[in-house]
Amino acid sequence: MAVLLTFIPVWIWLQIDPVISKRDIYISCIVLPLLISPSCSIGIQRAHLKVRHLADRNEYLANHDELTGLPNRRAFFARAGALMDLPRPSTQAFACAIADIDDFKSINDTAGHETGDLVLKALSTVLAEIAPEDVTVARLGGEEFAMAGLFASEAAARIWFEALVREVACRRPDGRKVTISLGWCIAEAEENMSAQLSRADHALYQAKHGGKNRAVRAVSGGPRMIAVA
Ligand code: GH3
Ligand code: MG
Ligand code: MG
Repeated sequence: MAVLLTFIPVWIWLQIDPVISKRDIYISCIVLPLLISPSCSIGIQRAHLKVRHLADRNEYLANHDELTGLPNRRAFFARAGALMDLPRPSTQAFACAIADIDDFKSINDTAGHETGDLVLKALSTVLAEIAPEDVTVARLGGEEFAMAGLFASEAAARIWFEALVREVACRRPDGRKVTISLGWCIAEAEENMSAQLSRADHALYQAKHGGKNRAVRAVSGGPRMIAVA
């Protein structure tokens, strides 16, 4: 590229000054390109790396929550959708859940917004740590988290969601008592992620009204028909 770029001015130069010496042409066509090309290549390489870094960063920001580093709502739908589409034996169950921190506003009000942020980060770490490989965890926004994935059976899903609620209460994220309420459901045939989340959300509402710090399963057939787990 540098050689080509050098030939252009040399050609123009020859048009303007046809009496140019051969030595000058050699210098212009061979020595100058040799001097210029390494710095050109390094410059192009650097620009390429910078563009790649910016593209990776953009991709990360588009799919992750900035505070906690967890996947965001958009990434959740993509990942959960991919997990749901995986072929699975009929005994396995696909389940999804929404968890919401109990009385989070009072943590903000009494200990400050920064402490609230630390609690969100600590809880995110706990959720990401204890989620099985086939379960994706995301922060939907505020103090709400979503989980979805494959479980060996419906009973295994129930055991895991109930254990999760207990585990959070035991772990004391950021050194303070934090509890969550959780609504969950088992995916029905042809049910998309939005419909599942909507049922899980209604079950979450029941968990809050049932006294918080608990998991409630949404039964099949629509958001209003729910059963306490
Ligand atoms: P409930 O048990 O019914 O869920 O009550 P709650 O206090 O947890 O829920 P509420 O909806 O009343 O309050 C949620 C609070 O979460 C209010 C909002 O300021 C706070 N919040 C939302 N996003 C963030 C955040 O990123 N950082 C912090 N520190 N607070 C947040
Ligand atoms: Mg809450
Ligand atoms: Mg909430």
